[in-house]
Amino acid sequence: MDLFEYEGKQFFASYGIPVPDGEAAASVEDAVAAAERIGFPVVVKAQVHTGGRGKAGGIKLASSEDEVRQYASDILGMDIKGHTVNIVWIEEASEIAEEYYASFTLDRSKKRHLGMLSAEGGVEIETVADENPDAIAKIWIDPIVGLTDDQTRGWVAAANLNPAATEGAVELLQKLYTAYDQGDADLVEINPLILTPNGQVHALDSKVSLDSNSVFRHPNYERYDATQPRDERETAAHEQGLQYVGLDGSVGVIANGAGLAMSTVDVVSQAGGNAANFLDIGGGANAEVMAGALQVINNDPEVKSIFINIFGGITRGEEVAKGIVGALEQVDIDSPIVIRLDGTNADEGRAILSPHLSEMLMVEDTMLSAAAKAVELAGGAA
Ligand code: GDP
Ligand code: MN
Repeated sequence: MDLFEYEGKQFFASYGIPVPDGEAAASVEDAVAAAERIGFPVVVKAQVHTGGRGKAGGIKLASSEDEVRQYASDILGMDIKGHTVNIVWIEEASEIAEEYYASFTLDRSKKRHLGMLSAEGGVEIETVADENPDAIAKIWIDPIVGLTDDQTRGWVAAANLNPAATEGAVELLQKLYTAYDQGDADLVEINPLILTPNGQVHALDSKVSLDSNSVFRHPNYERYDATQPRDERETAAHEQGLQYVGLDGSVGVIANGAGLAMSTVDVVSQAGGNAANFLDIGGGANAEVMAGALQVINNDPEVKSIFINIFGGITRGEEVAKGIVGALEQVDIDSPIVIRLDGTNADEGRAILSPHLSEMLMVEDTMLSAAAKAVELAGGAA
């Protein structure tokens, strides 16, 4: 779950990380009111789930009410790399002496958390990594031990920040690690992390990605979840508790298990078609869940055929088959369905489906033949 910059800053602030004062606004009037409360000058910042907003014209310094009005109306509704701006963040302007970069993420190959710090901030870190890799100081953190004070000091020294930034950076980075660790984040990134002319270190930008599976530990993450941009199909699926990602193709996909759902999307491509979605119904493929899944897929006007790919494990084949039959009694399906049912009690499952088979409901023996059939029914190879 990716946060907007302002949400990331609220997340940072809850761990004591210094961030400039600001307010989110969804209209020009709200932006002006926010600026008046905060005091001029302010920065008007587009809130979108992508970087490079500055270059795209989505970040403007405003010194008066008229300027805020002008910039907020320019930026609201703007398209930045395919993302429409619906919210601007109005923030007290900061004075910048230097711009740095800091982040924590997981290095899976080393089984450690990776911290990166650079005196060359404000530009894309990929560019620094390409052109001047030595300018990035890296540390690997044992998740059991955590980030120690000594390690932080050594890291900050290695990054060659301005000595005036040392104490502020050490303090901020330790809080950032705590936020990353205790907040169950997959990524926390500050670019730029700034040193102000009077020696303060604070986060001028934020990029935060939280582990969606940790929401049970953090009930307050519901509010971040609520602002996630979703297309209509994803909203409907989300309300039913389904693991759904909308895609651009015409073959609706239902599978049990995320791995099988991904393979199903792949095998549809292999057969020359394109999946309309990724949908994992999980282990319990009962009639209720299956009906919900079919409903979501049936409501997608792009879907021309539906491929249900089930591998019975703990969920037995006959339960899945009953689920499909039960679901078809609840939902009127417009597109032909191709089923591949394998694994535990697959024969029993196919026997249950057998009296219901028609040109709208077919069973294929293998995953690839089922994909080929579904692609054919969707109008052939793309
Ligand atoms: P990004 O372009 O999406 O990464 O957005 P950032 O929030 O990182 O802003 C881009 C750049 O705008 C920063 O690197 C700063 O140089 C500049 N900027 C942003 N906020 C301020 C501010 O309060 N004061 C000043 N002087 N510059 C700012
Ligand atoms: Mn930035």
